[in-house]
Amino acid sequence: MSVNRVVGVDLGGTKILAGLIEDGRVLAEVERATPTTSQEALLDGLAAAVRELPLDGVTAVGFGIPSRVDHRHGIALGSVNTPLRDVPFEAEMHARLGLPVAVENDATCAAYAEYAHGVGRGTVDFMMLTLGTGVGGGIVTGGALYRAWTELGHMVIVADGEPCAGACSGRGHVEAYCSGTAANRVAREVLGPNGTARDLIEQRHPALAEIGHYLGIAIGSLINIFGPERVAIGGGFGVAAFDHLLPAARTAVLREALAPAGQDVEIELAQLGAEAGLIGAGLVALEAV
Ligand SMILES: [Zn+2]
Repeated sequence: MSVNRVVGVDLGGTKILAGLIEDGRVLAEVERATPTTSQEALLDGLAAAVRELPLDGVTAVGFGIPSRVDHRHGIALGSVNTPLRDVPFEAEMHARLGLPVAVENDATCAAYAEYAHGVGRGTVDFMMLTLGTGVGGGIVTGGALYRAWTELGHMVIVADGEPCAGACSGRGHVEAYCSGTAANRVAREVLGPNGTARDLIEQRHPALAEIGHYLGIAIGSLINIFGPERVAIGGGFGVAAFDHLLPAARTAVLREALAPAGQDVEIELAQLGAEAGLIGAGLVALEAV
């Protein structure tokens, strides 16, 4: 039996995806609705989803959750779309499953998966930004996942700029300019009250270049800190709009990142799609073995 056999779980606002994973391949997968009535119901639902898989030979379970995570203590601090708040997540899930447990932010898991098994293969320094309802991401530096706060969507790119939505009190963050939610706001401004991000993409609207410009400023700053060889763009809006965001993003990267990092960096589309979170959670599980 391989020590690489783990379970990865991707917790979303509406569904739980759990997969039996070996060497980055998903051998079996289950899907359940996300219980949202209480924290207890959610933790029990996560454990039940794991137990539906054949656990013979499984060495650890990793969870990718849409929450800020305190890695040092295995605590899920807070989540907008699920009832998790200040819960000792690793301890709670270990008590339910009797296996080593690791927890990481869901977007960070997706980035780790892309690094190991997707568009990041062959790199040592890699970064991914996911542009969805919000903006998340993850960083791999020197071949290791950067396991810190990593709230890449809440980096300031415009001083005193647009306010962030939800629990964030900040202004001018990446999320307020480059998320699908932000694109919907831009669409209403340029197309009228019924405009959506989808309309912008279908019309190849020039407003997308402005979003790409902000994305490039964010990437340029992150290059100046982490120096990735390759940057992946994922998430529902990021994937759909990629071709329209990229030209302006590249121009901004060239301006903001010190040479030659800005010239050398590759900006690519994420490859793993909806399974990235699951596979990345499995990779995080391996580190708990
Ligand atoms: Zn923010």
